[in-house]
Amino acid sequence: MINGERVIENPIRWAMIGGGRGSQIGYIHRSSATRDRNFMLVAGAFDIDPERGKEFGVNIGVDAERCYPDYQTMFQEEAKREDGIQAVSIATPNGTHYEISRAALMAGLHVICEKPLCFEADQARELEDLAREKKLVFGVTYGYTGHQMVQQAKEMVARGDLGKIRIVQMQFAHGGCNIATEANNAAQKWRTDPKIAGPSFILGDVGTHALYLGELICPELEIESLLCTKQSFVEGRQLEDNAFVLLNYKDGAKGTLWASGVNCGSMHGQKIRVIGEKASIEWWNERPNQLRYEVQGEPACVMERGTDYLYGEALEEDRIGGGHVEGLFESWSNLYRRFAIAMDAANRKDYEFLKDFWYPNVHDGARGVKFIEKCVESADEGSVWVDYEK
Ligand code: NAD
Repeated sequence: MINGERVIENPIRWAMIGGGRGSQIGYIHRSSATRDRNFMLVAGAFDIDPERGKEFGVNIGVDAERCYPDYQTMFQEEAKREDGIQAVSIATPNGTHYEISRAALMAGLHVICEKPLCFEADQARELEDLAREKKLVFGVTYGYTGHQMVQQAKEMVARGDLGKIRIVQMQFAHGGCNIATEANNAAQKWRTDPKIAGPSFILGDVGTHALYLGELICPELEIESLLCTKQSFVEGRQLEDNAFVLLNYKDGAKGTLWASGVNCGSMHGQKIRVIGEKASIEWWNERPNQLRYEVQGEPACVMERGTDYLYGEALEEDRIGGGHVEGLFESWSNLYRRFAIAMDAANRKDYEFLKDFWYPNVHDGARGVKFIEKCVESADEGSVWVDYEK
């Protein structure tokens, strides 16, 4: 159970790039990082507009002299200080992730980066290699995977409660982009601009979350080949707002992934159903405290967060006990707590500990980039099967 007692000796001195006033995701980064006092927000280059970024930084309690006009200046100036930053979170639009992450690693900083990690699989590999070489922690904010019932699902699959896995159905299909929202919304505009969003809109924006959830719960499944059809239903939209993907796994299991922004009436619609030869489980991010468990031939049951019948791994990050609602902020806090523990271990050169310690990392981010690349390849060639290894 988490009760706020410290888990590392000294809080990590931390900065943010992006996530400024009006951004969608900045606040949950700060709220989750600082919640258990494992990170101290001491600096930032919060905004593409330096003045607005400085004013914002001061308003959230950062010293004016440590609110920088851009990340390059921040890395240079912080390196001169004895109490300079040790880690940085990157919450800027997709097109900047690669160059900022690379510069941060070169500056010797631990990195937490938003998904999708970057545009190209080669860039992702380079970031992965660089983090390994520099022995730095590189986390990726697949923010839904800190939910305790996701950990329960993972354990149930690992312990064979479902039998051999046959089918994984993944989806993140909301209705929020059923009209040209990009016309009046800056965050939506860059998401559908290939120069800033990369080769995909909805697959990168939400499909990567669905994929990682499947990979985390079923780590034994390796993609052998995939087929993707993608389209934009909204006229004039440059990148796809809907995609269906069929997956062949190496051991004969099959998967489907549906990513959509035009699923009218659906708020988020991120669901995963894992079907084994004996039983199935189903989890939905809009009801994160519950996990359906359906054994063939028995009445279906709904497992609840924070209860004694769960596996220990699903109880470690409980903060209040069963029956109370925990949500996305708790899930993110659990992940940030893990990022801090990993960074602390790396700072102490405890690499043995890091070998078995789970957090969504740069390799997981890189697999998301490869997935997008392969989906685009398949769809552009007329929705053909593509070999995943090539
Ligand atoms: P946004 O457009 O709402 O905000 C982007 C912020 O970054 C703004 O404050 C902007 O001023 C700032 N910025 C842009 N370029 C910058 C630069 N070069 N230096 C410093 N600041 C800069 O975007 P958003 O919706 O918050 O998304 C940001 C990232 O987070 C994207 O990669 C997106 O895919 C990701 N995201 C992840 C989740 C999740 O669940 N993990 C959810 C939403 C968004």
